[in-house]
Amino acid sequence: MKRGKLIVISGPSGVGKGTIVKEFINDPELKLSYSVSMTTRSMRPGEVDGVNYDYVSKEEFKQAIENDELLEYAEFVGNFYGTPLKNVNRLLDEGRNVLLEIEVQGCMQVQKKVPDALSIFITPPSMEELERRIRGRATEPEEIVQQRLSKAQKEMELVGKYKYAICNDDVALAAELVKTIIRYYSNKE
Ligand code: 5GP
Repeated sequence: MKRGKLIVISGPSGVGKGTIVKEFINDPELKLSYSVSMTTRSMRPGEVDGVNYDYVSKEEFKQAIENDELLEYAEFVGNFYGTPLKNVNRLLDEGRNVLLEIEVQGCMQVQKKVPDALSIFITPPSMEELERRIRGRATEPEEIVQQRLSKAQKEMELVGKYKYAICNDDVALAAELVKTIIRYYSNKE
């Protein structure tokens, strides 16, 4: 069986990565499986343990790092996020294309370890619009919002490190463009 491909969707927090991914994650043609990350952040209203993330303690996360269980990980605004290697490898072996929705430091690690991974950066139409989106979520204190915004500025500087960049001005169009790239890439060779 043809081994699946690794696909990384990245970009600043609040840019709408999750909304875009939802548009095509279940499209059977793309054979995609979403890799559920591990995080130490607390659950937001509406999130489900094991679906959005595996919510773990800092100790459990440290243990996973020490045991070399993560494909990549990063600290983001005071919390840890990482991709469990075991699930990713199993899914790739089963011929699934595995989609990681992660921030930029993690993506840089994946590119080093898996040079042929497909990396797509999602940009906001403007930084003002990104701020509006982050605030619109209204689930976090001002201090965290500020940290996410200053982090976003830095993340935007890394756009050139990605194979593709797509602007999320219109969700349906952005999703269609990302889908086209994934379809092309997964059918290659
Ligand atoms: P949030 O707290 O908004 O769910 O996520 C914060 C940031 O961490 C987002 O940019 C999200 O894409 C990223 N993220 C989620 N899971 C992972 C992961 O496993 N590894 C890395 N490096 N980043 C992740």
